[in-house]
Order: sequence, then C-alpha cells, then structure tokens
Amino acid sequence: MFLKTIDFSKYSSIKVGQPTEVLMIENEDTIPKDRYLIGGANNLLISPTPPPLMMLSKDFAFIKEYDEYLIIGASMPTGRIVSYTKKHNISGFEFCSKLPGTLGGMLAMNAGVKSYEIFNILHSVKVNGSWVPKEDIEHGYRFAKLNGIATEAKFKITKGFDANLLDDLLQLRSNQPCEASAGSAFKNPIDDYAGRLIEEVGLKGLRKGDMKWSNVHANFLVNLGNGSFEDAKYLIDLAKEKILSEYKIALTEEIKIL
Ligand SMILES: Cc1cc2nc3c(=O)[nH]c(=O)nc-3n(C[C@H](O)[C@H](O)[C@H](O)COP(=O)(O)OP(=O)(O)OC[C@H]3O[C@@H](n4cnc5c(N)ncnc54)[C@H](O)[C@@H]3O)c2cc1C
Repeated sequence: MFLKTIDFSKYSSIKVGQPTEVLMIENEDTIPKDRYLIGGANNLLISPTPPPLMMLSKDFAFIKEYDEYLIIGASMPTGRIVSYTKKHNISGFEFCSKLPGTLGGMLAMNAGVKSYEIFNILHSVKVNGSWVPKEDIEHGYRFAKLNGIATEAKFKITKGFDANLLDDLLQLRSNQPCEASAGSAFKNPIDDYAGRLIEEVGLKGLRKGDMKWSNVHANFLVNLGNGSFEDAKYLIDLAKEKILSEYKIALTEEIKIL
C-alpha cells in the first residue's frame, strides 16, 4: 500500500474538495479497518475534514471469464465493463453505460437506472476475502449491506449485448444536467420523486455561491465552477428542512457526505 494525494476538486464528479492523502490498497495488502473506502467519487461530497480515506488500486481493475462466469475487480470503471461486454456480446451491463463509477461503488449503492440494477445480474461478491452469494446480502433501492469491502464480483454470462437497450438508456440520460454533479442528491421517497418535492417547495434553480439545485433536474445539485462544501451542505439541509416541514417527508441523501 502507498499514500497518494488526490485533489477532490478535480477527482470527484461534483468537483468539490481539496487535495487529500488517500491510502492506495494493492493486491496482497490486508485492508485496514479504520479508513473509509472510496471508488470513483461519483456519489460523494467531501468535506474539508473527511475521515481517513483509502481506495483500491488498479490491481483490482480486471475482467476475466471463468467457466460460465464473468469475474470483475471492484476498481474496474463502469465504462470499461460496458466496452468489454459489448465487444464480447454479453448482456446485462448495458445500463452501466453513462452511469459513472467503479464496480465497487455500483455494488455498495446497488446502482441502477429504471428497473435495471446491478444486483439483478449479480451472482456473488467477494467481501473481506470471502465469496458471499447475492441472496445473503440485504439490498434494495440504492443500498446494499455489503458489511465490508468488495474486491471482486461474479456474474453469470448470458450472451447477447442489447444495442437497442443501450441506445434507449443513453437517450434517457440526455435530460440530465451537463454541469458537474454527484448524480441524484436524494433517494426518491416511496411513491414520489425527490426532484418533484424540491421543485414544489420552490428550490428548483436556487443558487448558493456556485452550487445550485439544477433547473434541468431538481434533484441534481450542480457545481457551476467554484462550489464549496458549505454551500452544497446548505442547499441539502434547506431542502430537507422545507420538505419535512411542508410535506412531512424525511428525505435521505443518496450522496455520501464525508
Ligand atoms: C452524472 C451522474 C449521473 C448518475 N446517475 C446515476 C444513476 O442513474 N443511477 C445510480 O444508481 N447512480 C447514479 N449516479 C451515482 C454514481 O454513478 C453511482 O452511485 C456509482 O455507483 C458510484 O460509484 P463510485 O465508484 O464513484 O463510488 P463512490 O462515489 O466513490 O462511493 C460510493 C459508495 O460506495 C462505497 N464503495 C465504493 N467502492 C466500494 C467497494 N469496493 N466495496 C464496498 N463499498 C464501496 C463507498 O464507500 C461509498 O459509500 C450518477 C452520478 C453522476 C455523477
């Protein structure tokens, strides 16, 4: 393992943060228990005082085929998974296109688009060194209780990459804001949409410093350039307070605030 300084104002998708030392974990290392693991930082908001951080190195960025399984390392970026499955005519990963992140982040968030979620196609995950079948992992809408660090995962190979589905999903993405963001700020409450609620309480388009509730998609907190953690947190807290007081709905963040 080795320390690497990562500037989160550049690395994180929301472009908020500062240069921070991150412990890079290599293949043979014992993974420390006192550090927070990050992936591609596409769902994170880093404060000026984050906990000690670690990240899986490129040793965990692999894809192999074994028997009828695809085995993918947890630091493999989603874009490369889609390219591989397209090239080898494997189905199931089409929805990962334009869903930025690493396999590890996708597993921890049970990331997905519409009815397509990573747990739908998952067979098992190696957590803290042991293979755990999907059935033994509690999971649901945008969460999975991995109870540890995922280093690789297994997927049963089904042939037939669906290019039409890929096109439909790419089309769906076209209504997302193009500014820097961490995706949806809040999870959708049952039978409702966080974006609708943010709009209803009059916050759509509200700006604080360089952070703003997007005009395009109200549940996206976007950074117009020099957005700060404090401004992002202000807008998140304001939305939670207003929606709780006006609709009695307690929103929970989808983005992880560190
Ligand atoms: C423009 C944009 C659009 C997005 N659209 C969607 C969408 O449609 N659907 C959706 O679901 N998400 C969406 N997201 C969010 C993001 O793409 C997903 O949450 C993605 O899975 C995050 O992966 P990551 O590697 O960046 O994880 P990070 O953001 O780095 O981490 C997210 C969480 O995963 C945990 N984690 C990471 N790696 C591991 C591991 N190996 N083992 C255990 N835990 C781990 C971290 O501890 C953290 O809690 C979007 C984000 C952006 C910026």
